[in-house]
Amino acid sequence: SLTIGIVGLPNVGKSTLFNALTKNDVLAANYPFATIEPNVGVVGVPDPRLAKLTELFDSQRTVPATVDFVDIAGIVRGASEGEGLGNKFLANIRESDAICQVIRAFRDENVVHVDGKVSPKDDIETINTELILADLQTIEKVLPRLTKESRIKKDVQPKVAAVEEAQSILESGQTLFAAGIAQGTERAEPLHDLHLLTTKPFLYVFNVDEEELTDDAFKAEQRALVAPAEAIFLNAKLESELVELDDDEALELLQSVGQQEPGLATLAHVGFRTLGLQTYLTAGPKESRAWTIKQGATAPEAAGVIHTDFQKGFIKAEVISYDDLLATGSVAEARAAGKARMEGKEYVMKDGDVVEFRFNV
Ligand code: GDP
Repeated sequence: SLTIGIVGLPNVGKSTLFNALTKNDVLAANYPFATIEPNVGVVGVPDPRLAKLTELFDSQRTVPATVDFVDIAGIVRGASEGEGLGNKFLANIRESDAICQVIRAFRDENVVHVDGKVSPKDDIETINTELILADLQTIEKVLPRLTKESRIKKDVQPKVAAVEEAQSILESGQTLFAAGIAQGTERAEPLHDLHLLTTKPFLYVFNVDEEELTDDAFKAEQRALVAPAEAIFLNAKLESELVELDDDEALELLQSVGQQEPGLATLAHVGFRTLGLQTYLTAGPKESRAWTIKQGATAPEAAGVIHTDFQKGFIKAEVISYDDLLATGSVAEARAAGKARMEGKEYVMKDGDVVEFRFNV
């Protein structure tokens, strides 16, 4: 499955956040036999629709979609020079599908900042500089050979042009993601086999004091700093307390700081979207469940997530939108009201589709 690597300077609250993430672990509840590495946190993507479906179908269990977060050992300045820890750090980032930077914005004088002052802008620049330098090194290694090759093979020329463009963007201090050359887009295609770090999607977690959670001007400023990446604002200490409370107490604590949902829930949602994922739903007496697919997946691809045989033998998908199912109250009523659609092989799945697949075995 796809993973999000968590990185950040020392003392910004990464461990605090990661511990909260692992306490929130849904694996133990839903996959009791799964073994999991200590640096991986599997977090459920909250979806209130699942609770409703569970009620409606009297399901025995409820299985949310999940996002995997990997705790990547602390970045050190000079990581891109590729020594010791630095090497391992870069290798771990290379294996991640998205990069989540934790940025310190809280001002606790008892917690030392590695650079002596709290400055989100400088910290972001420090981390991005290491990633950019690593990408520039990758490019410097391959570019001479590619250029030579392109003199003989004309079809290599567009690739050389793309790599040179990437190089000049990186030299200007910008990540490729920020410049619109994100993994999965057409512009990133010629760079694919270079496995550049900064084409990965980025997201930013600002670890803020409680006052900043409701400070819209402050948040707008940070958002502008990291766009087009998304920004999430949370207080890591508060999150670590929230996971210890039952639902009512947690809600009360959240409301006391002007929040609707835990920062971890927002992080799971945004992380899921950043990875280019979406869900569809299945419901029945055994379980109500959210299944993870790529955005834009077709009905047979969605069926394949449940079982490869479902994809191979795919005939049709019976789709009822969640809203219609809830309004009519049952599958039978939805069918009677003409709200159940039979969709074929070309159908592109939509968020909120409740699905039953028809297939040949
Ligand atoms: P890491 O080095 O990035 O993993 O940072 P830690 O999670 O170990 O946190 C470093 C220190 O900052 C610890 O003493 C935490 O208790 C403290 N800390 C973490 N998050 C917050 C926060 O939101 N507010 C305050 N005041 N302190 C925090």
